[in-house]
Amino acid sequence: MNTPDYKALFDSSPELLLIIDANLTIISATCAYLKAVNKLDQAIEGGNIFDLFTNEAAHETIGGSIDNIRASLKRVLKDKTDDTSTIPFYSVEKPGAAIKLKHYRLTHSPGLTESGNIKYITQRLEDVTEIETLKALVERKIKSIEQIAASEKRYYMMLMKSPFAFCIMKGEDLVITLANDLMKDFWGKGRDVEGKTLLQVLPEVEDQPFPGMLLSVLKTGTPVYVNEILARLKYQDKMEIRYFNIVYQPYHEEDGAISGVTTIAYDVTELVTSRNKIEESEHRYQEMIFSSPSLIAILKGKEMIIDIANDAILETWGKGKNVIGKPLLTALPELVGHGFDDLFNGVYTTGQPHYAYEMPVYFLRNGQKELSYYTFIYQAQRDTGGNINGVAVIGREVTPEALLNQKIKESEELFRKLLDTMPQIAWTNTTDGEITFYNQRWYDYTGLDHKQTNLLGCKTVINPDDLQIALNEYRSIRETSDGGEFQIRGKSADGSYRWHLIRLMPIKNNNGEVQLWIGTATDIQELKLLQQQKDDFISIASHELKTPITSLKASLQFMNRIKDTPTNIMLPKLIVQANESLDNVIVLMDDLLNASIANEGQLHINKKLLNLSEIIEECCPHVRAEGIYTIKTEGNMDVEVYADAARIDQVVINFVNNAIKYASDSKEIRIVIERVNDLAKVSVIDTGPGIPPDKLLHLFDRYYRVDSSGSQYSGLGLGLYISAEIIKKHNGQIGVDSELGKGSTFWFTLPVA
Ligand code: ADP
Repeated sequence: MNTPDYKALFDSSPELLLIIDANLTIISATCAYLKAVNKLDQAIEGGNIFDLFTNEAAHETIGGSIDNIRASLKRVLKDKTDDTSTIPFYSVEKPGAAIKLKHYRLTHSPGLTESGNIKYITQRLEDVTEIETLKALVERKIKSIEQIAASEKRYYMMLMKSPFAFCIMKGEDLVITLANDLMKDFWGKGRDVEGKTLLQVLPEVEDQPFPGMLLSVLKTGTPVYVNEILARLKYQDKMEIRYFNIVYQPYHEEDGAISGVTTIAYDVTELVTSRNKIEESEHRYQEMIFSSPSLIAILKGKEMIIDIANDAILETWGKGKNVIGKPLLTALPELVGHGFDDLFNGVYTTGQPHYAYEMPVYFLRNGQKELSYYTFIYQAQRDTGGNINGVAVIGREVTPEALLNQKIKESEELFRKLLDTMPQIAWTNTTDGEITFYNQRWYDYTGLDHKQTNLLGCKTVINPDDLQIALNEYRSIRETSDGGEFQIRGKSADGSYRWHLIRLMPIKNNNGEVQLWIGTATDIQELKLLQQQKDDFISIASHELKTPITSLKASLQFMNRIKDTPTNIMLPKLIVQANESLDNVIVLMDDLLNASIANEGQLHINKKLLNLSEIIEECCPHVRAEGIYTIKTEGNMDVEVYADAARIDQVVINFVNNAIKYASDSKEIRIVIERVNDLAKVSVIDTGPGIPPDKLLHLFDRYYRVDSSGSQYSGLGLGLYISAEIIKKHNGQIGVDSELGKGSTFWFTLPVA
């Protein structure tokens, strides 16, 4: 029997076997092994095991396979037992072929000597590549399944906690199989809804569109999208309105069959209600604008494009609705040149509102230019960014008021003009006491201008001695509201004070309330003087009358005593004295009578043609008879006039008597008759003390006496007044030229005949 060729048997074994000794030196390897490690063509016996792998850098890279082999051998050398591990491996099945990744199970089995030492180690490689690949596949699968589960869980959690309400209902009964918290909150019927039908949970929606929509999706498989759908839901027995955006989608089973409906809902109640509110308020605002009786327009952009115009303003413009969208001045050309564009630009550029009161506007209506008055507000309009993009014009027609105000202004103007033409000072006072107007006479009299008047006020014009009285009177008159008057001295432009009568009269409205006070100041200086003169006159007149009457009485008393002895030598003297006294009384009485006649305008003149020199030469027989004074008549003896001889005589006598009385040292009195053009002039000239120039002006006034206090000369101050009245009646003039220390010339003129 042939000894079997163990070596050949071994070599051809399909197993991948390698035998090494304890020094890791290769003893033998099967062909299968050599093939696996790609060393088929090489002699490997006697080499180191690791020489097998040196050429293959790839081995190193595969999960440390060489290290694994080394570690395994180490364990075997140490433990002298089998050691198994799995190593990935690259192998090239034939030279030039692609490297394949293989997995091998590696088993090292030691062969021991009887003494228990390692004689050899068998390395066995089992190709487990397929199993390993499968395992990896399964592992990957498991991992991916785990991942899917995790993501599904996340997805589920997301749905359950999402800001969208979510639920799934199944079957025609719409049984709720899943609903997230938010959906349960929307329903408001607690958490325990799964397994119940929709109508069990929400019976209130039975008549609402939701069940219908759900069933249609279930039947047709077509999704339904609804926005802002109104839902009436019951929350704790109270019906509430909510709005939702809802997506209904068919729920497909794995086999594709539709078993239910997925609902995703989003609560938009707040959005809808707030939008409704905005819309409502916008609507109301628009309503307000359009139905407002005020004229409202909004002009946009620099071009003043009419953006909005309400009915009232459209009617005022009279051009119909098609003006909207056009520039203002194109739509209403009649407004060009009235400053609207300037007004608009001012507001548009500054943002400052502008108010125009009672502005006259001409609108072209039915081809007619019509004047109306408007009160307007121009208000800048801004966009959401705060930039001015237009101007709102809000106005009101005020034509009747404007016309009335105009009338009032005109009548006020008239009233003021009237006050200006008054000879008195006049002003207006408000009920608060403020003076609102002074007439021209005020400025003329006080010499103050408007500025000074405003600054100084009226108090500085009142005499300080009268100020307190004025204030008290003024107050008490205003309190009574009936008007009243008082007297004060007011300072004139030249600094002198003149008496004024202040009169305050109220202007009342229909209800009897005082609206305004009108004050007047009438110059009563002359009146005051006259009054003073009158008072003085009365005392003088009584004194003047008393003197001759007392002496007449004394003469009569004396005569009475001697009445029984008519031969008494005193009697003729007493009779002369009594007659003289009576004559004096008669002269005084005549003066008084003449003065009062003249004053009443009753002085009658009986004109006749007469030669002046004839009257003058015969006048004053009493003076001539006395012989103390000489009266010399000179000049033109032929001048003839139409005059009342007795009255002219009276004037000449008066002049001569005064010359004797007031210029007693001048023994010669000259009377000169002249003809100056068409006038006859008669002058009575004395060389007496003369009269101070400031007194000259008043000499011919009633009661005026130069030295009223001195009782040196008797007289009533009426002689010259009566003379002046007589000459006036003859259309002549009367006057005096006088120089202090030199004498006086009293003259009169008469028109020649
Ligand atoms: P009566 O003589 O009664 O006072 P008259 O009217 O005649 O009144 O005169 C007015 C005043 O004029 C007189 O009081 C006197 O002071 C002044 N007067 C009149 N004539 C003369 C005169 N020839 N010379 C100076 N003063 C005169």
